[in-house]
Amino acid sequence: MIKKIELPYKLDALEPYYSKETLDIHYNTLYDGYVKNTNLTLEKLEQARTNNNFQDIKCLEKNLSFFGSGVILHELFFLNMILYVPTNPSKSLMDQIEKDFGGFINFKNQFTQSSINVEASGWNLLVWVPNFNKLEILQCEKHQNLTLWGCIPLLVLDMWEHSYFLQYKASRQDYINAFWNIVNWNEVNKRWDEICPIYKI
Ligand code: MN
Repeated sequence: MIKKIELPYKLDALEPYYSKETLDIHYNTLYDGYVKNTNLTLEKLEQARTNNNFQDIKCLEKNLSFFGSGVILHELFFLNMILYVPTNPSKSLMDQIEKDFGGFINFKNQFTQSSINVEASGWNLLVWVPNFNKLEILQCEKHQNLTLWGCIPLLVLDMWEHSYFLQYKASRQDYINAFWNIVNWNEVNKRWDEICPIYKI
């Protein structure tokens, strides 16, 4: 059984950039649903193994990918936001961003444009690609499918409509502009330092 993460801030803590109402629905209803369905799927998989009955295995493993990825991406997204504490990429992460994107502004511009252009519901991610030994930005349009095997998510932005429509309507640009004010680089730095120890400049 997986457990819901506690938000490290109150529901209104990201105001005005991310409204209390949006976060309430996002965390308490949608994310909660992903956690419950992941646990239901894990239980059914356990039953299938116990009974040695794999009749529904295709459906169960698909559900695990869909709901499980929904849990993981939402947790990364919720944790990579904060307000009232100024944060910045660490020295080593900034060096890598400069190497791979030609500067922080270039990275920010690409991340913003990539987010705006996510087709329908999806995500935008800054990832570390161990096989290429570099940072990349990826759109993830169907989160049950990996877009690049082996990549490690560092910074995640939820581009499903539920994440911004209530507050920003159809203006993805306004939502993303607001997001840049609440990025928690401390959390991104932690992932970079702890999960990507093999980076090289
Ligand atoms: Mn979401």
